[in-house]
Amino acid sequence: MALNSDLKYSLLAEFYEKIEKTTSRIAMTEYLVSLFKKTPTDVIDKVIYLTQGKLRPDYEGVELGIAEKLAMRAIAKALAISISEVEKEYNRSGDIGLTVQNLMQKRRATSILDYFGAPSGLHPLTVSKVYDTLVRVAKASGVGAQETKINLLISLLKDASPNEAKYILRIVTGKLRLGIADMTILDALSIAFTGTKSAREIIERAYNVHPDLGYIAKVLATKGIEGVKDIRIKVGIPVLPMLAERLNDPVEILKKLGGECLAEYKYDGERVQVHKDGNRVLLFSRRLENITHHYPDVVEYMLRDLDCEKCIVEGEIVAVDLNTGDMLPFQDLMHRRRKYDVKRAMEEYPVNVYLFDILFVDGEELIEKPLPERRKYLEKIVKPTEEVKIAVSKRVDNPNDLMLFFEQAVSMGCEGIMCKSTLKNSIYQMGARGWLWIKFKRDYQYEMTDTVDLVVIGAFHGRGRRAGTYGALLMAAYSPEEDAFKTVCKVGSGFTDEDLEQLPKLLEPYKIPHRHPRVISKMDADIWFVPAIVLEIIGAEITLSPLHTCALNKIERGVGLAIRFPRFTGRYRFDKKAEQATTEEELIEMYKSQKKTKVMA
Ligand code: ATP
Repeated sequence: MALNSDLKYSLLAEFYEKIEKTTSRIAMTEYLVSLFKKTPTDVIDKVIYLTQGKLRPDYEGVELGIAEKLAMRAIAKALAISISEVEKEYNRSGDIGLTVQNLMQKRRATSILDYFGAPSGLHPLTVSKVYDTLVRVAKASGVGAQETKINLLISLLKDASPNEAKYILRIVTGKLRLGIADMTILDALSIAFTGTKSAREIIERAYNVHPDLGYIAKVLATKGIEGVKDIRIKVGIPVLPMLAERLNDPVEILKKLGGECLAEYKYDGERVQVHKDGNRVLLFSRRLENITHHYPDVVEYMLRDLDCEKCIVEGEIVAVDLNTGDMLPFQDLMHRRRKYDVKRAMEEYPVNVYLFDILFVDGEELIEKPLPERRKYLEKIVKPTEEVKIAVSKRVDNPNDLMLFFEQAVSMGCEGIMCKSTLKNSIYQMGARGWLWIKFKRDYQYEMTDTVDLVVIGAFHGRGRRAGTYGALLMAAYSPEEDAFKTVCKVGSGFTDEDLEQLPKLLEPYKIPHRHPRVISKMDADIWFVPAIVLEIIGAEITLSPLHTCALNKIERGVGLAIRFPRFTGRYRFDKKAEQATTEEELIEMYKSQKKTKVMA
């Protein structure tokens, strides 16, 4: 590439030095503006990526990160010195960039000729040379990749000044941290290419739908602001997600939302933006990283259950109990993410997807449409299945109902609810935290400090690994007043393989073909038992629940009590008769006196 369509890398290195020294954001913007003005159009994108310490936007997942050990080997080889000399300098300076800079300067001072026998500046490095070489470094893979990477790095160091080498080493090791916010770059682009900051809003809109600063700059430099206005949502390029404000008072929430809202379960998992294009699906995280490889099962579900050619939908991926199908807390999903073997992780930690928004479908951009309309589009293309569902929601216009819906969500294993505006202006606000969405999470956490002894009154067939035995047991507390057993949870955790083998044998004599007359249950178990066997259970907390009959209507109308995330402790209470199980009254007391611990959110 001719130099007039390229930029000397030394200019970029000088710019980095100035940025490192300044403490003023205004100065930072000014330096950027002057750099952009000097930068030829051909390389504006490369200049921006390098300045951000990367080669491509994050969502493309191009990894540069070379281990420091490898970088030290390259330095030693390039300078023809020993590794231990490099390590010594590294231990002294603590920074790989300073290490190479200091070593090169030392070398220069003792040599008339440059260290490679050529006067420095003979082959000045350009931005393209550095960028293109780093791309080759990133792409090198397979056998001999390490040597290839080292040799490419050496080829750059040969032509670099000590200052340039410092920044090259920092970039390749992922340590170039200039701390320039994307928003500052947007400001600078606006000033550099339009002369004022007033085009910033248009540029930011484009960035929200196509969060790739290199691309935006290139369009701006080649087609001007009109070109930027034409940037549209594209399937395959993640959109900056809409964020929520937070309130914890149902009255306040409804006031903010104009008296009415669409309340939705707030699922406790990982946010996902799904891009479907024919038979190709990409998944992006809240931070816009490509997470497709973590969830091959979700990809399959989306291909199966989204009835559209091209679309972008949003939802939450939630871990579910292998045996009961119940939702599990976020931590369980993270266990899955940490598993090395994705196939095994999929089997051990199955997930469900709860979709809550749609941004694009078959050529139509939907972000400017109000939420109720977007909902209709979503309902049109989603075929609900066991694994893929639309988020549970309810139109609410009074604080009481909002509170009840909140309690219901929590008892189902959710973190709380999302309250969303349904007004005309309820658009999808990309990249913004606003009052169109309000999250209502608990600001305290209850702790269940004691175990309870509950009676087995029913069971559900197991799935997956537990096929042929019980997946979960339906448990009840006792009400002496009514001489009845009332359900309070479905327990599927805490059982060892031995327990699972023993339980059907233990319960066999109590099996009956229908609900026992002394059992009061809203749930329909697969198998029913005479209330007899008592197990010790612990849970995360006791919550209100519309699903269970224990304390039904005793605390609030229409709801009873449930144990959230219940687990068998391993203790069979053969010493207790069913009538000696924990009573309904005891559970009500426990619910009322639960320890409240403030959670810093
Ligand atoms: P934020 O995303 O607001 O910065 P955060 O990352 O701490 O905060 P939360 O406070 O938990 O996240 O709340 C927002 C997140 O809730 C969303 O990013 C999304 O992952 C999740 N979520 C779960 N259910 C829904 C829903 N029905 N609608 C929107 N978001 C939901």
